[in-house]
Amino acid sequence: MKKICPICNTEFIAGKGNVKYCSPECRRKAEYARHNEWATRTNYAEKKRVEMRQRRLKEAEAHREHLRQMHDERIRQIQEDNERADQELHERAEAGDNEALMKLAEKAGDRAGYYKYFALYEIEREEKDFGRRSTRTVNGISVYDPDFAELVMKSIEETGQCISKINGQGIKIDAMQI
Ligand SMILES: [Zn+2]
Repeated sequence: MKKICPICNTEFIAGKGNVKYCSPECRRKAEYARHNEWATRTNYAEKKRVEMRQRRLKEAEAHREHLRQMHDERIRQIQEDNERADQELHERAEAGDNEALMKLAEKAGDRAGYYKYFALYEIEREEKDFGRRSTRTVNGISVYDPDFAELVMKSIEETGQCISKINGQGIKIDAMQI
C-alpha cells in the first residue's frame, strides 16, 4: 500500500506490518526527533521544578525575615517601655518620691537604701492616705525606728527570715520584697 513518509514527505510503497517511514535513515531521523522532543520536555519540567523550589525558598526566607523584623520590633518596643518607665522612676526619685527611691535602691541592690525608703514610704502612705500612724513592723522593728534599715538588715542576717506585720498580722516574705 502507498504511504507518505512523515519525515521526507516522499510517497513510498509500504510492505507488511506497521511501516511508517520510507527508509532506515528516515526512521532514525524520526527517533532522533522524538528523543529531542522528550529531552526538551523533561528539561522544561526540571526547569519548572527548580523555579518552583527557588520560589518556595524565597517565600520561606521572606517569611523568616518578616518574623525577625516583628521580633526585633517587639524587643525595641519593650526596651522603649523599660527606658520610659526607668526615666519616669528617676524623675519621681529626683522629685523626692519615696516609693521611686525605694524601687531604685532595690534595682541597684542597695539594701540599706531600700529599707530606709521602704520605712519612709510606708509612714508617708499611711499618714497621707489614712491619716494614721503605720503599725507596720519588719522582724518586730517599727518603721518609725530611726535605725529601722540598719536593725532590719541585722535581724534578717541573724534570723534568716523577714517577717512583715501590720496590726500584729504577719506574713513571711523574702528579704527586700516587703
Ligand atoms: Zn522518508
